[in-house]
Amino acid sequence: MADKTNTILTIPEPRTAALATKPYPVAGPGFVIVEVAVAPVCNEGRIYRDHQFEWHDSPEHLGHEGVGTIVETQPGSRYSVGDRVIVYQANGCQECFVCTQGLSPTHCLGIPYESYEEGMAPQDIEAGLLGIEKVNGSASGGFGMVQYRLAPEHMIQPIPDALSFHHAAAANCLLGCTYTAAEEAGVRPGDVVLIGAIGFIGLGAVVNALYRGATVVVLGRHPYRMELCRRLGVQHIIDPDDDGWLEQVHALTGGRQGADVAFECAGVPFYLDRCMAGLRRYGTMYSLGHDEGSVLYSLSILNDLMERHINWTGGHDVRHRDRDGLLRMLCDPQAQGWIDTIVTHTFPMSRAGEAFEIALAKQCGKIYLLPQE
Ligand SMILES: [Zn+2]
Ligand SMILES: [Zn+2]
Repeated sequence: MADKTNTILTIPEPRTAALATKPYPVAGPGFVIVEVAVAPVCNEGRIYRDHQFEWHDSPEHLGHEGVGTIVETQPGSRYSVGDRVIVYQANGCQECFVCTQGLSPTHCLGIPYESYEEGMAPQDIEAGLLGIEKVNGSASGGFGMVQYRLAPEHMIQPIPDALSFHHAAAANCLLGCTYTAAEEAGVRPGDVVLIGAIGFIGLGAVVNALYRGATVVVLGRHPYRMELCRRLGVQHIIDPDDDGWLEQVHALTGGRQGADVAFECAGVPFYLDRCMAGLRRYGTMYSLGHDEGSVLYSLSILNDLMERHINWTGGHDVRHRDRDGLLRMLCDPQAQGWIDTIVTHTFPMSRAGEAFEIALAKQCGKIYLLPQE
């Protein structure tokens, strides 16, 4: 393999995306090498603009979503060369209570979020994506925006023959994280679901709420994205700047005076305030968005949380136990139609800069990159 290389995406400086050539990945036991067909864009637009990185990424380590075809397995593997697979993010320890109960690997105890203030050292954390290159002694492949990706076998899922890469690639942050959120929030047919702030995560939350037979109320104002909501079949779109926005929500929820569930997808006080206010008593607030850095948000424990009996949680990963149900959803023709609506752009990875500019202009739903082009 000495002559084989790996082409990866880098963001060497703000508003610059460039391909780089790295050594072909080295895979150890329990890992496969995947030729990546689709690498969806997630937070990389913001990285392209600000050049600020989360603990798990860097200018040469970008992307965490993806689907592709296995091109190399290790002895004893339960997979075969040629298998088409979804690759999920992170590399959970498979031993802690989070991992053994089928929860989300992003929340594995192997990632010491509680030590974040002291400065986590990403290269020391094997449960994250950088750990994948470290444990394999590989100079590339641990991340999503690459031609050849190293993936732990417990973080991949086979794609049925009838399911296209295009639809399967919605399994990560687009419809996967929001599938888990809808499961955890217990969205049921007939529920009124309020969705505040519509980017691709908001669109994913809309699709998951519609899939479960809920009535969807969108709080949003970006014309391009409101048009996508209308095309998805969203019944109610309310401008959060409208003085009567709360009365409009209440009018849709009858005697309950508020939505059963709210998905807040921006992580900013403007939408957090409105999602909180728009919930009914005993309603569930689910945070799917976070602003960069850590925005602090204040509320009254008594008045906002206890007296109104609000349940508030959040997350941004797919639980292991949800993979089967998620795959069933991705194979559903109606869900595939919704994916076709909200995946608005596809670019060769060599033109990632154009993709990131469109993401920053918000003239898009989800954007896919094609690493082989
Ligand atoms: Zn993502
Ligand atoms: Zn774990």
